[in-house]
Amino acid sequence: MNLNDPVVADCIFCRIARGELGTEFVAESEHNVAFRDLHPQAPVHMLIVPRQHFAALRAVTSDDWHVAADALSLATRVASEYGLYEGGYRVITNDGPDAGQTVPHLHFHLLGGGQLQAGLG
Ligand code: 5GP
Ligand code: ZN
Repeated sequence: MNLNDPVVADCIFCRIARGELGTEFVAESEHNVAFRDLHPQAPVHMLIVPRQHFAALRAVTSDDWHVAADALSLATRVASEYGLYEGGYRVITNDGPDAGQTVPHLHFHLLGGGQLQAGLG
């Protein structure tokens, strides 16, 4: 991680992943951290966030797909630990303005703990 890169230095999720903001992690893996979304949209709403800065899914390069795979793996672990296997859960990522991405650092939403809104669009 290059802290001389102003994007990485100032990025809110880079700062959370580095532990600078005191955010409690509900789980961690080699390449990702998981923490509660500030504005939950489901009874369980976690964010799975790579320690490394990627602006969005499209910014993951061929050498780095293991980071995204690790994020999905961590999402399933958190889903299991928070009792979501019985009812099910949803994992999504927003990439770009049409999808409503607001934080320009790749993250996966893990949603569950109750009936989710039908539809994806
Ligand atoms: P996006 O809209 O980019 O897909 O999702 C960004 C998510 O990050 C939103 O659900 C928002 O509530 C959450 N978020 C933004 N800033 C913070 C923060 O400082 N801490 C936490 N825990 N969540 C945040
Ligand atoms: Zn970042």
